[in-house]
Amino acid sequence: MMTKKAIATLLMLVSIVSFSQKKADNNNPKLVIGIVVDQMRYDYLERFASKYSETGFKRLMSEGYNLKNTNYNYVPTFTAVGHTSIYTGTTPSMHGIISNYWYDKELKKSIYCVDDSNYNGVGTTSKAGKKSPKRLYTTTIADQLKMFQMGKGKTIGVAIKDRSSILPAGHSATAAYWFEGGDAGNWITSDYYSEKLPKWVKKYNKKKYSDEFLNSQWNTLYDINTYTESLIDENDFENHFKGEGNSSFPHDLKELRKTNGNYSLIKKTPFGNNITADFAKAIIKNEKLGKGEYTDMLTLSFSSPDYVGHQFGVDSKEVEDTYIRLDLVLSDFFKYLDTQVGKGNYTLFLTADHAAIPVPSYMKTLKIPSGYFEGDDILAELNKAILSKYNEEDLIENISNFQVFFNHDKINEKNIDLNDFSNFIVREIMKVEIVYKAVTALDMQTTTYSKDILNLLQNGYNQKFSGDVLFVPSPAYIEYSEKGSTHGSGFAYDTHVPLLFMGKGIKQGESKKPYVITDIAPTISSLLGINQPNGTNGDIIIEVLK
Ligand SMILES: [Zn+2]
Repeated sequence: MMTKKAIATLLMLVSIVSFSQKKADNNNPKLVIGIVVDQMRYDYLERFASKYSETGFKRLMSEGYNLKNTNYNYVPTFTAVGHTSIYTGTTPSMHGIISNYWYDKELKKSIYCVDDSNYNGVGTTSKAGKKSPKRLYTTTIADQLKMFQMGKGKTIGVAIKDRSSILPAGHSATAAYWFEGGDAGNWITSDYYSEKLPKWVKKYNKKKYSDEFLNSQWNTLYDINTYTESLIDENDFENHFKGEGNSSFPHDLKELRKTNGNYSLIKKTPFGNNITADFAKAIIKNEKLGKGEYTDMLTLSFSSPDYVGHQFGVDSKEVEDTYIRLDLVLSDFFKYLDTQVGKGNYTLFLTADHAAIPVPSYMKTLKIPSGYFEGDDILAELNKAILSKYNEEDLIENISNFQVFFNHDKINEKNIDLNDFSNFIVREIMKVEIVYKAVTALDMQTTTYSKDILNLLQNGYNQKFSGDVLFVPSPAYIEYSEKGSTHGSGFAYDTHVPLLFMGKGIKQGESKKPYVITDIAPTISSLLGINQPNGTNGDIIIEVLK
């Protein structure tokens, strides 16, 4: 007869044995890496192909799976929204990150997506560290991985931009790091994640790796005359660095850092990618990612291409040079993964958080309809119309992110019918020359739009946070300076992005089938055999999985 104690011991042994067997059977990659290139248009893969190495972007294409027809499926296409949608598998209508900044209807002021005054910076005393993912309403892939593994495995976010680090890594992240510019030049975090920086990060920050680039020049990597995939170096469609009389190479960074916010300058150069990749490698090494029993996840975002695109425009020599250099940064990073984590032990994907528009003032020279508008002008027009019909002022509180926010207190107080007023604003805003389409929030709540621009508007419309009337400017009309590129629309120039998968569990191949950005999260979830994030409404991209 076995004693109770003996039975308990035996059961424990059996469970240990079966547990360890289960771990041995687990065929998941040791490390999942999500790479987001901020503002990467799909066409950069094709346009700069002759300048890329065989071991960067082209390695993703030759070893991995290239989904050539992947688009964003909502408006507005901004950074915070893009990063969130990639990792949650859903759109602003569900995850709540409706823009980078938006007008908060309750607080009656503009708020920033990851600001959180409840937390303090770690590695900084400035408000650059007072951040958290509290405005994100759903889980990310990283959260689901954490839950699947009962809290085991490390999930870490890294990007120059705080929002691009914090939102992908999710609520339960082990850590998230972003770069503080100004005179600091350090990778920092918030006490949402941990009370202090790991020793190795403190040591790493002392190295001041950015100085290697900022005490030097930014010249083109290859002879500028071979950069035939971009406009002439000095053109009318680029912004300048502060204190630089022209926009030609070389850019004297050592001189420019004095007038461009010291360490902040590196963000606007391709070398922001170098410091990000170097820090990502340090994370992998020091946190031993991919070395443990459980699957780890690194969400990595390269922010600098966005700054360069905004400043110089998508057809500039600066953008071409940025991608030629990023290709080599990626090549080096992949080689590092091969040796540090081991080829066959990791799975990665690469995509972008949005694309960008060719500079409209340049398109005008090609006689393509394009131009600029000011939200304030639209507001002034609407206010004039409201005054003449209702004899009232201040019925609109804010116009931002292509949405009009009403003053509901005053509309109630004056007994104005909300439906009538909404329809009136739609009619009036349609009189603005550059407005292509407008709909009421009431439409968004009561009608289901299954395709085209209204579907994208609906996916971006969050009943709790969005405005009362939504409008769509005509293609190629932007609210921006007449130099440089921007993004935000639901048109192909902003929605079409690269999507490549590579590594364990991924087939080799390519496809022109249409996919949407919200398909990434369910695909990675399926590969890992874990639950999809709790708001996911994308589909598994079956053809990429082995
Ligand atoms: Zn972005």
